[in-house]
Amino acid sequence: MKDQGFRRAGKGVFACEGCGRPTRQSDNNGCELCYECYTLAGEDNTHNDDGTTPDPTEMVCYNSFLKAVGDKGGDVERVRSSNRYLWPL
Ligand SMILES: [Zn+2]
Repeated sequence: MKDQGFRRAGKGVFACEGCGRPTRQSDNNGCELCYECYTLAGEDNTHNDDGTTPDPTEMVCYNSFLKAVGDKGGDVERVRSSNRYLWPL
């Protein structure tokens, strides 16, 4: 018995829309984002919606995700600039 639904989109590796690195992520609502970018985009959206700015504890978390993007070869500045509620200008 095949595990139906697992390969529903028929996609394999793609370039993350956030950081540009090749990634393979199947469970992110169809967004072509790696795990880190998807998580940061969700957090960015949350702060956009509720009008709050991240507190220092949250920033430790977000910066660790950003570091992970860089460690894996992603474009950190691009991720930072696309999440302006987390990293304002
Ligand atoms: Zn990414």
